[in-house]
Amino acid sequence: MITLSKTEKQIIENSIRDIQDFPKPGIVFKDITTLLNNKEAYAVLMNHLYQRYKEYDLDYIAGIDARGFIFGAALAQMLGLGFVPIRKKGKLPYTTISEKYALEYGVDEIEVHIDAFGKKKGAKVLIIDDLIATGGTANAAATLVNQTGATCVECCFIIGLTFLDGIKKLEEKTNVYSVIEVK
Ligand code: AMP
Repeated sequence: MITLSKTEKQIIENSIRDIQDFPKPGIVFKDITTLLNNKEAYAVLMNHLYQRYKEYDLDYIAGIDARGFIFGAALAQMLGLGFVPIRKKGKLPYTTISEKYALEYGVDEIEVHIDAFGKKKGAKVLIIDDLIATGGTANAAATLVNQTGATCVECCFIIGLTFLDGIKKLEEKTNVYSVIEVK
């Protein structure tokens, strides 16, 4: 299994900026824009993801709205695979299936085009997003992928918040990989 060296991990970690109390008091927002505009960190990260996932025999990469699109689309191109956006409700123009998930207050909903993963049943899909917190978004995304007839083989995050139980809950459904863990 491909692992990051200590130096590579540090380059990625150091490139992520913490914003206190955004979008509301008590939240430490992990800002990945400072990873994206750091060419060394972005290259180390994308090369690591490429090395890891070239062994997986994947059919598609699915990215979660919106930061998952950035990493997912770049990785799909590197691996020579198609990319599928999983979007917030109301953004996709063709027939969709959707899944609701709980937020701290209220619910949200994401959707995917019904034919996004082609006609072949059991297409192998990697889901990617920038961060897992409670796991609600990724859980709904994995449910959607499986409902289309494809198979979510792993969910990948640049950052995993391990002080929440999102990763544990998602692991009941699929494999989970976080490049960086925040304890
Ligand atoms: P969750 O469904 O609780 O796992 O939340 C994951 C989604 O919310 C991801 O799409 C993240 O981009 C975003 N998110 C949640 N918490 C944070 C955070 N502390 N910093 C940055 N993004 C976050």
